[in-house]
Amino acid sequence: RAKTDGRGVFRFFEKEMDARMQERRRMELDLREAPKRDQFELAYQPLLGLDSNRITGFEALLRWRHPERGLIPPAQFVPLAEETGLIVPIGEWVLREACREAASWPGEIDVAVNLSAVQFRSPDLLAMVQGACAAAGLPPQRLELEITESVLLADTAGTLGVLHALRALGIRVSLDDFGTGYSSLSYLRSFPFDKIKIDRSFIADMNSNPDAASIVRAILGLGRSLGIRTTVEGIETAAQLEYVREEGCDQVQGYLIGQPKPASSVAGLLREARIAA
Ligand code: C2E
Ligand code: MG
Ligand code: MG
Ligand code: MG
Repeated sequence: RAKTDGRGVFRFFEKEMDARMQERRRMELDLREAPKRDQFELAYQPLLGLDSNRITGFEALLRWRHPERGLIPPAQFVPLAEETGLIVPIGEWVLREACREAASWPGEIDVAVNLSAVQFRSPDLLAMVQGACAAAGLPPQRLELEITESVLLADTAGTLGVLHALRALGIRVSLDDFGTGYSSLSYLRSFPFDKIKIDRSFIADMNSNPDAASIVRAILGLGRSLGIRTTVEGIETAAQLEYVREEGCDQVQGYLIGQPKPASSVAGLLREARIAA
């Protein structure tokens, strides 16, 4: 009995693995076809400057409108896109689309685009970014690229070179999800970042865990003393906004300010914000 049970369990796992591999294959095939079928879209989430109390820009966030599965958030397909290398063409589409859209906004409104570590290592990155700005007629000064610490882990000399080259073009670079990865403080000294984005997990934990609030305060202080601007993400309540404002945060992002919305709603949001200001 025990013996057959063992085999049974093994078969079960085999089947389970098989099903998962098939599911992955299917997702990969769908992902490959998605650009040709116009299934990607961008949502834009406002960034609020705390000096001016005005919207200073929007972050472009990728969505996949799958014919059967509906709207899929990036956490559910970006990792697969990275493993398969598909993130390179997908990321190029994101950048071109975001630049094109942003070129129609008022000149003082910036656009932030997320860049995967895989894209960052692509030898065509600089030409691609420059090409996207040029094609859209967007001044590079209005483009911000968000990278995570995973970019910094490998190949330090190459990474530094690319970061400097991007900045020489006038493009700003933000360190996204700060505090979640291998967060080494030496990164902040070694690499030229314009902005640190403090991960929303710290904000979410602030009410229940006083240490999270201390960490937010410490990172804001660090940014100030290093002359790096700070954004706090995931602001959902007025109390969280008050806290980070008092601690000297430069910019906030979160559902309290605005959810990610389709491009068509950007103009209306800017108009409302002007009236409210
Ligand atoms: P991220 O760059 O840190 O983007 C912020 C994420 O937090 C977004 O999730 C946004 O919808 C969510 N968020 C913003 N404010 C709040 C809030 O107040 N509360 C809560 N609970 N969530 C909030 P989203 O759009 O699902 O994106 C997740 C991640 O996927 C992004 O995190 C980014 O790392 C990645 N991603 C998104 N678009 C792209 C892209 O075009 N390329 C690449 N490589 N990655 C992307
Ligand atoms: Mg981001
Ligand atoms: Mg972020
Ligand atoms: Mg994040």
